[in-house]
Amino acid sequence: MRIALFGDIHANLEALEAVLADAAEQGCTDYVCMGDVVGYNADPVACLERVRAMDCPVVKGNHDEDASGSHSLESMNPVAAAALEWTREQLSDEQRTWLRRLRMVRQVEDFTVVHSTLDQPAHWNYVTNRFDAMSNFSYQFTQVCFHGHTHVPRVYVKTDKVQEVPAESVVVEDGSKYFINVGSVGQPRDGDWRACYAIYDLDHRLIVFRRVEYDIETTQRKIEEAKLPSMLAARLADGR
Ligand code: ZN
Repeated sequence: MRIALFGDIHANLEALEAVLADAAEQGCTDYVCMGDVVGYNADPVACLERVRAMDCPVVKGNHDEDASGSHSLESMNPVAAAALEWTREQLSDEQRTWLRRLRMVRQVEDFTVVHSTLDQPAHWNYVTNRFDAMSNFSYQFTQVCFHGHTHVPRVYVKTDKVQEVPAESVVVEDGSKYFINVGSVGQPRDGDWRACYAIYDLDHRLIVFRRVEYDIETTQRKIEEAKLPSMLAARLADGR
């Protein structure tokens, strides 16, 4: 069984379609979404409906929460807030309800899925080093946990200590725990513009990262046409 783990789509339909096509080509039969389906880019409705139609496990991201609420976005960075205000206007009440009802944590097969961290899933903590990862591991009761949120693929392994290892293929070994950031489909921030996701091959206990090219010009054009902040289009090309 091969499962595609994808998230931080952020309303980038071209990247989402490219990832799903690649996953199907790679023999994935199951899909799990790390959240942040919407926010930043210009296709929130299409991305939400595409993910919803897949009827796969989805956890809630902070942008899903902010886009589905009516609270003030003043404390956010102004570019993200502008995109979220716009996103709120695009979504129907019924679509906002779907986002609002997403769960924070899911268990799928023998692994756990969360958008940010298991220790405080609603606090949206960012994991950028092994010390951040340690807090998560205290609450991780499955051998493998997948997450997103930073838009940077990362792998933390806990044996007698917690280490970060390169985000390349990972063999799941007995006696170790794994906390794995699957990167971002729709707004990668590791300097590589290509859409990022991971495949977990349960039979071989192997996790691989995939990078997929997509029609970035179309995504950028839609951002300009929607009159979203133009830096959102520029950053896609930089992978930042
Ligand atoms: Zn995100």
